[in-house]
Amino acid sequence: MSKIVIVGCGNVGMSYAFSLVTTKNKVDEIVLIDVLKDKAVGEAMDLTHATAYSSNKIKISGGDYSDCENADIVCICAGKNQEVGETRRDLINKNYGVFKSIIDEVKKTKFNGIFLVATNPLDVMTYITKQLSGFDEKKVIGSGTVLDTARLRCLIGDTLNVSPKNIHAYVIGEHGDSEFVPWSNAIIGLNKATDYLTEDDRARLLYDVRNSAYDIINKKGNTSYGIGMCLTKITNAILEDSNEILTVSAYDKENGIYFGMPAIIGKSGIKEVLPLELNDEERDRLNKSIDCIKETLNQINK
Ligand code: NAD
Repeated sequence: MSKIVIVGCGNVGMSYAFSLVTTKNKVDEIVLIDVLKDKAVGEAMDLTHATAYSSNKIKISGGDYSDCENADIVCICAGKNQEVGETRRDLINKNYGVFKSIIDEVKKTKFNGIFLVATNPLDVMTYITKQLSGFDEKKVIGSGTVLDTARLRCLIGDTLNVSPKNIHAYVIGEHGDSEFVPWSNAIIGLNKATDYLTEDDRARLLYDVRNSAYDIINKKGNTSYGIGMCLTKITNAILEDSNEILTVSAYDKENGIYFGMPAIIGKSGIKEVLPLELNDEERDRLNKSIDCIKETLNQINK
């Protein structure tokens, strides 16, 4: 029996829950928790009705923190979202308080599964989850740059008229304004991406990936479906022990922080972070991205 607890039933939490209901997976039970208890119960009722026509038979309910006890994954999507003109880093102090209240409650149970984090600023919130929970770093996973990597692959696919499934290019670093693409590692089909994409193409693609969230928030106020599907992909990799390589936010011992890197994901969480061979310019960009995350971390008023 696989049980997922989702804390935070807003745009992100519910897009995740809906994609769990509508895609093939091993989930047997979803419990929704929100500070707005009625919202969690109402969402659970609505989603339960969707299961009549979905191939997954999932039990869905609105619950409380005692439901975390035997959960496989507790996914935290709670907290403040970016408003128009706000960066992800601006959310840090509001969301630190939200996480403290949530993780204190989860710790009162015997929860021994995997924490999956979606709230921004993502890499810092993932680090905070590890610190507040005391969990092993491999059992705390952030959605990292999985969404940004999906956006990159869609955009390259559109540019070259190739399926995103045949594009092995990654966005790494902060899930935020300093993220970047190590093009020296990017492969399309069997060849280097740089054989197909000019320097201008690559600069435009990175700009579009970085600005996707701002663009979408300007138009519809939030982003949800993309991240919902990314959380489902990470969930499936865990429940199926599939060893899928995903650019999750993973702990880096050398720097003592979390950031997006390709990692092997399975039942035990982050099984291994795959070191990328970066050229000097890419190494410099990664160091700058790491500095940005450290700077945000230092802004927390505990
Ligand atoms: P939202 O406002 O729609 O939902 C947030 C939910 O959290 C609300 O239902 C609220 O009641 C609940 N909540 C607040 N405090 C709580 C608490 N202490 N305990 C339990 N529930 C609480 O926001 P959203 O659009 O769903 O975004 C959620 C977070 O996800 C934001 O930080 C956003 O920036 C982030 N996000 C991340 C990614 C990513 O790629 N990782 C993508 C999109 C959004």
